[in-house]
Amino acid sequence: MSWVDETRGRLGFGCMRLPGGGGSAGYREMERMVDAFLAAGFNYFDTAHVYHGGKSETALRECLVKRHPRESFFIADKLSTENWRREGEIDALLDAELDALGVDYLDMLLMHAQNASTYEKYQRAHAYEHAAAFKAAGKTRHVGISFHDTPDVLERILDEHPEIEAVQIQFNYADFENGAVQSLGCYEVCERRKIPCIVMEPLKGGGLVNLPAAAQDVVDGIPNPEGLSNAGLALRFAASYPNNAIVLSGMGDSAQMADNIASMRDPEPLTDEQKEGLGRIRDVFRELGMVECTSCHYCTDGCPKQIMIPEMLGCLNSQRVFGGWNPGWYYSNSLVGEGRGRARDCIGCGLCERACPQKLPIRDLLEEVSAAFD
Ligand code: SF4
Ligand code: SF4
Repeated sequence: MSWVDETRGRLGFGCMRLPGGGGSAGYREMERMVDAFLAAGFNYFDTAHVYHGGKSETALRECLVKRHPRESFFIADKLSTENWRREGEIDALLDAELDALGVDYLDMLLMHAQNASTYEKYQRAHAYEHAAAFKAAGKTRHVGISFHDTPDVLERILDEHPEIEAVQIQFNYADFENGAVQSLGCYEVCERRKIPCIVMEPLKGGGLVNLPAAAQDVVDGIPNPEGLSNAGLALRFAASYPNNAIVLSGMGDSAQMADNIASMRDPEPLTDEQKEGLGRIRDVFRELGMVECTSCHYCTDGCPKQIMIPEMLGCLNSQRVFGGWNPGWYYSNSLVGEGRGRARDCIGCGLCERACPQKLPIRDLLEEVSAAFD
């Protein structure tokens, strides 16, 4: 049976922006949100040990697990690279996550933030084998990955790990064909392999809610007979693609939850005209300075400092154009260290710029990256 058959509705409660930062001061509001979410017919909760410094898991234990029957909710938790250094630490970490949540089993364990670099660490530590053993012991019902890289990297991981049941991808109308994210390309890999997707960042960390004025003008011109909010349009864009089984939203209060529930209660696909309208917003983002990196990686092979150039330019885009998402966290936890240079380590040799087909001023852009994230 597919894990999708165990979920209800297509909206997922992303627990990384909880009221009160996941602390006990936010529990009453969180309880209201949990109850409203379940009452509206949804059951998918997404957390990670790294969210709110561990408080996301304990908030779920207090506000969900202790108050509702286990079979009434579906919990996804993650094995995150920053929580372990050696293979010998993995099993104890996974058991600690069960304890923090107060459950005997997870519904989904996701290998967190997989990209070409982090994947190597997971491989060296046999992390996928540890996840399989965790599942065989009945401690998770399903295993998947959350993914931040290009379709060819995704193909490789799925070839090497056919046991993967779900892929969490970044998918929103801004990143739809963005070279650094390639939402559509990753979606198509999963669809072809019949692996259901979980969508993260459908609102680009809130960047598609409070739009720049020029982008809002475009949205206001899109036919919108249901009166969907900016967030609602973005959620429905992701839900318009049928292999996106779950669309996560990091809801922070009851008002956001009510809006998200209203938009996703009966998620009819957007019309072509609506999708084309949202597509025009990408032109606005370009005018705002989005770096046109296509993530071809031609620049990275020769870099003596092993700097993850396209991924860092993606962080810059997140900050410049969208004023949000979590680029600082991603930069520090997935892009640097273990032999990979920081932006400030660039020695200005220029090899990358000679290789770049887009003729991007990579050295200048890395200075901006360094100022923002180092
Ligand atoms: S200029 Fe900097 S980023 Fe480019 S190849 Fe040289 S060290 Fe790497
Ligand atoms: S070569 Fe240019 S376009 Fe390609 S990934 Fe590097 S910076 Fe981006």
